[in-house]
Formats: sequence, structure tokens, C-alpha cells
Amino acid sequence: MKGKALVIGGSLGGLFAGNCLRQIGWQVDIFEKTGDDLASRGAGLGTHDEIFAVMEHLGIEVDESIGVSITRRYNLNRKGLFDYSIPVLQRQSSWAWFYHALRRIFPDAHYHVERALVRVEQLQQGVRAHFDDGSCAEADLLIGADGIRSTVRAQFAPQAQPQFAGYVGWRGILKEADFPRPLHKEVFEKYIFGIPDGQMFLGYPVPGVNGDLRLGHRGYNFVWYHPIGDENVLRQLCTDDKGHCYGTAIAPPLIRPELIRDIRALAKEKFAAPIAEVLALTPQPFFQAIFDLACPSMVFGSVALLGDAAYVARPHVGMGVTKAALDALQLAQRLESSHDIASALAGYNDTQSRFGHAAVQWARHLGQHLEDQLKPPEARNPKIRVQQPEVVLRQTGARITEIPGLANVIDLPRSSGRVPTWVAAGGL
Ligand SMILES: Cc1cc2nc3c(=O)[nH]c(=O)nc-3n(C[C@H](O)[C@H](O)[C@H](O)COP(=O)(O)OP(=O)(O)OC[C@H]3O[C@@H](n4cnc5c(N)ncnc54)[C@H](O)[C@@H]3O)c2cc1C
Repeated sequence: MKGKALVIGGSLGGLFAGNCLRQIGWQVDIFEKTGDDLASRGAGLGTHDEIFAVMEHLGIEVDESIGVSITRRYNLNRKGLFDYSIPVLQRQSSWAWFYHALRRIFPDAHYHVERALVRVEQLQQGVRAHFDDGSCAEADLLIGADGIRSTVRAQFAPQAQPQFAGYVGWRGILKEADFPRPLHKEVFEKYIFGIPDGQMFLGYPVPGVNGDLRLGHRGYNFVWYHPIGDENVLRQLCTDDKGHCYGTAIAPPLIRPELIRDIRALAKEKFAAPIAEVLALTPQPFFQAIFDLACPSMVFGSVALLGDAAYVARPHVGMGVTKAALDALQLAQRLESSHDIASALAGYNDTQSRFGHAAVQWARHLGQHLEDQLKPPEARNPKIRVQQPEVVLRQTGARITEIPGLANVIDLPRSSGRVPTWVAAGGL
């Protein structure tokens, strides 16, 4: 079946959807609310094999420029010893690499910037989208790929709201050139976990600015999951030094300097010296609140939700982009093999809702130890009191086929196996 689709949101989810539908002969227009260079927003990105399979399916060559491969994960304990490690091949790429590759193959004439959707109207056949400049567009199908604060979802499932997990991820990228030699030798080419009680730190090498893979030009990306409390505490963190509160997110330069001082001091208390040093040397650490989201349905008449608009799993699964790619591929495959849109969307809703639900549940399981810290000590779950490196290193960012409830929901696409493994220099 062929037809016309409107995609709301021009980020990775929207681009996967637009390209997958064009490939089966659909006419597609993408509408993106901002006019900014989206590539500049991205940071390091953990990958799964399935995302490469979807890229290859779209005819995109995945070459060495994809990023840095790491072959081992290490636990760095409080005393500064690497006391446990396991072999795991992981390719760390950048958000911008995927964005540029997907944007390049989507025609400019059909990618409309500074067009924000305000409302969707279901027609007897198809849909009409209304935009903030007063214009409208009609099609057979509308895909809401407009992220965790989706306008499309707000209209059709207003009860589905992002849930704050009670912790933030302090993040940053330290340039390779800014590493003192001994610290570089000790940690730079390692995927490191630091998991003292109630905290979780992950650090790993990523491509440098503009995907630069040259020695000395890469970056070291870290995320430190740190429990803070409820949304009121989050709002206090998102208040600048003039007392203005920005809600549940704040731009990095506006973060109060004392918060950064405090977090650097706490890093010295909680983690081994190399982790505290990475925090101390990173010029502008910033935080992102961790939310998750589960929508009761992904389909409403001729409207389908995709990617973060429908389900957001906490980042412990490193699944956001892969899930968006799999949603897009499934949607295209269903549309291609069905006689009508309604039955294609019913099949899409069935598999992708189960997939999204299982991803959210698994990520909650991986974050339960962090959430538990917010309870009084006597109310904490003794079974998850201590984080075991043997479990955490294996379960974080695991392969889809190893995640309970995810492996058998859909036929997972397999990459050709030709995706290069660019092992960080020095060998691990
Ligand atoms: C700490 C952290 C670490 C992460 N690490 C990983 C990782 O390692 N691997 C991974 O795969 N994912 C990771 N993610 C998640 C990943 O960033 C997203 O899941 C992924 O980008 C898919 O998003 P999307 O395209 O569905 O939505 P988004 O990227 O949010 O895009 C939505 C787009 O819609 C546009 N939009 C919104 N409203 C409108 C409107 N009304 N009209 C028109 N356009 C609109 C927005 O401007 C935006 O461009 C991480 C997230 C966090 C917070």
C-alpha cells in the first residue's frame, strides 16, 4: 500500500520514519518546530546492532567514522582498583553522526523547519495538521515523532505524562587533550563503572568534535546518576542564581556554580580519585533529569506515535535511538504488507507497544537501586541494597536479545556484520 504521510518532529525518530516510508514509495513531509542546527544538541550515543541494520536497510554505509569501539567494561571501586571486568563489544558513536547520515538522504524540499504542529484534525479519510503559522497540510497518515513532550500525544492521550525517576544524570565530555598523562593512561580508553551505594557513574571514550577520531582529539563522556528527591527538588536545581526557575530542565551555563562545586566535592567522597578528577577537569558539567514515559496506545485513528513520543525508557538501556529506528522500520513494513492503513497500524500498535513497555520496565529495574535511596533506610529493599558489579556491568546497555521481554516481540533486523570495529588505540 502507498500513500502520503506527515511526520511531526525532524529529529532522529522523524528522520528514521520519513526515510523508511519513502523507501516503500510513500510521499513524506517532515515538519520540525525549530530552525536550529539539531546536530549541535547531540552528545555521545551508545549503539545496538539493530540500529546499524536499519541504517544499512536505508542504504547508509556504516564506515569507520561511526565512532569508537570498546571491548571491555571495568568496575573501578572506591579504593581505585579495577576489581572486576567483562568483555563487551560496544560501539560509542555520536548523535550527530546519525542525524547527518539520515538528513542527507531525506530531500530538503520535504523537510520543513520552523513549522510547529499545534493541532491534529482526524478527517473521514486521513488527517489534517494545523501549524503555528496558520498553515495546514493533509495526508493519509500522521506520525507523531515529536519527542517526550509530544504535542500529538498531549492531544490524544493527555493522561500519559513523563514520570520523574527521582534522580538526575550529571553529564559532561572531557576533551582528550585536557587529560593529564597519568589520568589518560589509567582511564581514557576504558569503559568504566563506579557504583558505590546509591550512585552510578559510567565513563567511556567517544568521538571528538565533528566526529573526530584522531588520537588526542577524542572525548571522554560521562554520566553520573545521582538521586535527588522529588520534582520540587528538581525545580530548585533548575533555578538560576537570580532565582528564576526554568521548570525541569536548565541550560548548562545557567546552572548555579555552587551546584557544580557541590557535585565535584561529592565525587571525591563517593568515587575513586580518577572519577573525581574527570569531574573536576570537565569545564561545564551539566545535568539532565531522568524521566520515563509509557503511553497506553501508540495509535489513534490515522495517527501513530513513534520514538520518544510514545515510550521513553531510562537511559540505562541506551535504547532511545534504536527503539525509534525499530518503530520506523516496523511501521514501514506493516504499511507495505497491509491492504489498509487501519490494519497496518493495529499490527504496529501491538508489537511496538509491547516492545516499548518491556524497555521501560527493564530500565526501571536497572534504576531501582537509585530510586530506593530516596526512601528512609528502614524502608529500602534489602535485595537491591548493594549493587553487584557482576550484575550492573552485564545488564547496563545490554543487547536487545539479552533483555527479558524484548527479544521475541519482533523479528529483529540483523546487520550485515560488516560494521567496522574501530578499537580504541592501545587495545583493551
Ligand atoms: C542522559 C541520556 C542519555 C541517553 N543516551 C542514549 C544512548 O546512549 N542511546 C540512545 O539510543 N538514546 C539515548 N538517549 C535517548 C535519545 O536521545 C532519544 O531517545 C532519541 O533521540 C529519539 O528521540 P525522538 O526522535 O523520538 O525525539 P526527539 O529527539 O526528542 O525529537 C523530537 C523532535 O520533535 C520536535 N518537535 C517537538 N514538538 C514539535 C511540534 N509541536 N511540531 C514540530 N516539531 C516538534 C522537536 O524540536 C524535536 O526535534 C539518551 C537520553 C538521555 C536523557
